[in-house]
Amino acid sequence: MAEIKSPLTPLIDQLCKLPGVGAKSAQRLAFHLISVTTQEVEVLANVLTKTRTHIKYCKSCFNISFETTCFICSSNSRDKTQLCIVAEPKDIYALERANEYNGLYHVLGGYISPLDGVYPESLRIEELILKLKKSHFNEVIIAINSSIEGDATTLYLKSCLKNYKNPISQLAYGLPVGAELDYTDESTLQKAFSGRQKVK
Ligand SMILES: [Zn+2]
Repeated sequence: MAEIKSPLTPLIDQLCKLPGVGAKSAQRLAFHLISVTTQEVEVLANVLTKTRTHIKYCKSCFNISFETTCFICSSNSRDKTQLCIVAEPKDIYALERANEYNGLYHVLGGYISPLDGVYPESLRIEELILKLKKSHFNEVIIAINSSIEGDATTLYLKSCLKNYKNPISQLAYGLPVGAELDYTDESTLQKAFSGRQKVK
C-alpha cells in the first residue's frame, strides 16, 4: 500500500506505537483528536504527562501508585494475612475486577525469560522472600499466567518457597493456556481463584 503523507502522519505514527493500535485505528483516533476542541486535547495531553511523570511503584507491593504506598496496601479493609503473587501490576487490576480476593499483592515485575534477558535476579523475588520472613501470611497464592514464561516463573517460585511454613496455592487452570490475566473475563478469573489448588 502506498504511503499517503498527510498533516496527520506524525500523530498517526505516534499512535501506531501503542499496543493493539494498528494503522487503521491510529488514523481513526487521529481524525477523532482533531475533531474535538483544543481544550479537550490539552486535558488528554496533561493527563498523559502527569500520569507518566508521577507514577511510581508502591514500596510494599510494587503496584503502580501516585503515593509511596498504594491504595491496596494502605487500606484497612484488606485481609493482610493473604498474599497473592502476580507478574505485573496490570494483573492486580484484572483480579480486582473479578472481585474474588481481598488480600495483599506482590508484583514480581515480569516473567523469567532468559531469551529476553530476564533472569530470576531481575524479578522482585528477594523482596518477596524478605516479606515472607517479616510478615505472617496464612496463605500465599501464585496467580501467574500459564504460558512458557509464566510456567517457568511459577516453577522457580515454587522452588524458592518450598521451605515456606504456610500453605501455598496456585490459580486453577481453568484459565486457557497462554491466557493473560487481564484479557480473561471476570467469571473465569473468579472460578480460577475460588478453585485454586494447594501446591504445598
Ligand atoms: Zn502496595
